[in-house]
Amino acid sequence: MADSTAAPLPLEIAGMRKSFGALEVLKGIDLKARKGDVISIIGSSGSGKSTFLRCINLLETPDAGEVRVHGELIRMRRRGGAQEPASAAQLRRIRTKLSMVFQSFNLWSHMTVLDNVAIPPQQVLGKSRAESVQAAEALLQRVGMYERRHYYPAQISGGQQQRAAIARALAMDPEVMLFDEPTSALDPELVGEVLKVMASLAEEGRTMLVVTHEMGFAREVSSQVMFLHQGSVEEFGPPEDVFGAPKSDRLKQFVSRSF
Ligand code: ADP
Ligand code: MG
Repeated sequence: MADSTAAPLPLEIAGMRKSFGALEVLKGIDLKARKGDVISIIGSSGSGKSTFLRCINLLETPDAGEVRVHGELIRMRRRGGAQEPASAAQLRRIRTKLSMVFQSFNLWSHMTVLDNVAIPPQQVLGKSRAESVQAAEALLQRVGMYERRHYYPAQISGGQQQRAAIARALAMDPEVMLFDEPTSALDPELVGEVLKVMASLAEEGRTMLVVTHEMGFAREVSSQVMFLHQGSVEEFGPPEDVFGAPKSDRLKQFVSRSF
């Protein structure tokens, strides 16, 4: 496995730490994602799940730790005691390689679904309008949103908005997709259509990190599950182990409350 000719991992994190003032939110987190891994991140509210994802794609700047994306170390520099990305160019490149899907969809409300998906590749990757529109239409087909491509976000359901947001993330052809509770803001009857799209991405071999409260998804779709407790990885392993044979009492309690 670990021979030097092996392809670099899509994502490798070592010793990630983050505090907000006196509150230590991430206490040294390690993670290796292999190509095609779907890693569900579970844990109680406040355990640091969102902060972890946000530190990975530098929406927050971690205090310490290394992030490598497909082997490329994200260089950080110290500035007034805090770290920040070494260059804006690297930050932009990293953001395209790690695209994020948020709980609140975050589509641009003044743009159609099609433009939401087709504009970022033009602005960020410098692709042509024609190429971007063609790719966006194919992606919208893929998530079942082609028919609604000329609608504005306010004219479609939350589940449809989230599927469009997933197409937008896919348009960057990211190395890893990050999902932060992508179904938590949805009415229960709309959760399934979004999970189905995510399961199909997993099936086609996308590498994904998914913060979720959907334990059925975590159990059935993930290759690995990370249980975070107060900013530390309390347990990590395949879903059969994490759900079937939890070791720590905290995980046992969490699992018994979740099913
Ligand atoms: P989770 O996603 O697991 O619910 P979060 O990562 O959102 O947890 O939050 C972890 C802890 O960090 C919480 O106590 C939260 O209040 C705190 N926190 C998160 N973001 C900030 C911030 N920008 N400033 C101050 N505290 C924050
Ligand atoms: Mg959160």
